[in-house]
Amino acid sequence: MQRIGLTGGIGSGKSTVASMLVQRGAALIDTDAIARSLTLPGGQAMGPIAAQFGQDLVQADGALDRDRMRQIVFQDASAKRRLEAILHPLIGMACDHQAAQAQDRDIVVFDVPLLVESGRWRARVDRVLVVDATEATQMSRVMARNGWSAEAVQAVIAQQASREARRAAADAVIFNEGLDLAQLQAEVDGLLQQWMAADRR
Ligand code: ATP
Repeated sequence: MQRIGLTGGIGSGKSTVASMLVQRGAALIDTDAIARSLTLPGGQAMGPIAAQFGQDLVQADGALDRDRMRQIVFQDASAKRRLEAILHPLIGMACDHQAAQAQDRDIVVFDVPLLVESGRWRARVDRVLVVDATEATQMSRVMARNGWSAEAVQAVIAQQASREARRAAADAVIFNEGLDLAQLQAEVDGLLQQWMAADRR
């Protein structure tokens, strides 16, 4: 089994590439979805979050008030670290559990938007695949997909690793720009062939 860490900036096309890999038989472990499920009503992170940040952060239904939490960590680096100290070990355990259930697959893809920002991920995967696009393309895609303003997309891009930092951490890069979906699929298939050939050697 090969463990692929998939990352890229907002709107680069990670989810699109992830779906293409799944179509070819890979198992997908989505760390954003895991983080969300940990902070739903009854989620494993909710007790520690309430204890650390107060009941104000918990909605009436028992889920995390994500908007308030986002505002807090945006302004307060120590709060961000404390939240990560709660979430990261739980996410790690959930990933291990899901990976153990995918033992029969040749490829397991970990979709980790902040893989480069949180360095500890490198040791968990065999290869890092970066989906890259220019900032102009990131902006136009996310404005179209989410209906966000240019400033809102720019603010997220500014918080994420630079394209250069991501490319420096990559074992493979897909430059998802000027490619239609069939061409993107061909890039994905080319990488899969390389990885499978390397695995047989
Ligand atoms: P986020 O970080 O916000 O989750 P992402 O990196 O997962 O974003 P996607 O959701 O895969 O990005 O892509 C962003 C948008 O751009 C989507 O609407 C997707 O359909 C579109 N898109 C991505 N790549 C292409 C492409 N090669 N051709 C056409 N549309 C594309």
